[in-house]
Amino acid sequence: MSTIEHIKVISFDGDMTLWDFNRVMRNSLSVALREIQRRVTNPASTDLTIDTMIEIRNSVAAELKGKITNLEEIRFHAFCRTLEQVGVNDNDLATELNTLYLKHRFEDVELYPDVIPCLETLRENYTIGLLSNGNSYPERCGLSGYFNFAIFSQDVGVDKPDARMFNEACKEAGCATSELMHVGDSQRNDVAGANGVGAVSVWLNRSGRRNGSGIEANFEIKSLIEIAKIVNIP
Ligand SMILES: [Mg+2]
Repeated sequence: MSTIEHIKVISFDGDMTLWDFNRVMRNSLSVALREIQRRVTNPASTDLTIDTMIEIRNSVAAELKGKITNLEEIRFHAFCRTLEQVGVNDNDLATELNTLYLKHRFEDVELYPDVIPCLETLRENYTIGLLSNGNSYPERCGLSGYFNFAIFSQDVGVDKPDARMFNEACKEAGCATSELMHVGDSQRNDVAGANGVGAVSVWLNRSGRRNGSGIEANFEIKSLIEIAKIVNIP
């Protein structure tokens, strides 16, 4: 068990830690899919599915790796490719779809019920940050005012678990890496990343799955509410 008295800053992962990313992503894609099927009427469009759209996005992201880091731009290229797949070459329509997708992608984010109570409890005593490989800016997701800083991999140029992400957070917060506690659902990105820079790691394991990763966190929790106990807030 690590000591936590020296912790000054607590950073949180975003996707699947503060909100259910998969759910909001799929819902937003379904809105875009309905729009494609309204605008493009042919058998390929009728056959298009959300799973295919996700596959297209992932292969476009893999192709653009190292060339484009902005996730909204990658999503735009994915819509261009999706339209090509249904026989349409139309960058303007891809732009429209991207705008529609992103509107829902941010506005429809539903925070897990433990997020606000947890942040309310911690904010008085700790500097709080968001440290994300995604692109959900707090003010776009109903979290305006809760974070003292937000670090996004698309701005840093590398993803967690790269140490540069954690170093950037500490620079922003004005603390040593040993004074940082990082909370996240990913053992590889969050726990291993925090361990690698000597920060205190907290693995959020909401579903209580078995740890088969060989990566050990300093603390394991099922709910963000448990963080108060870790830092001894009654
Ligand atoms: Mg995550």
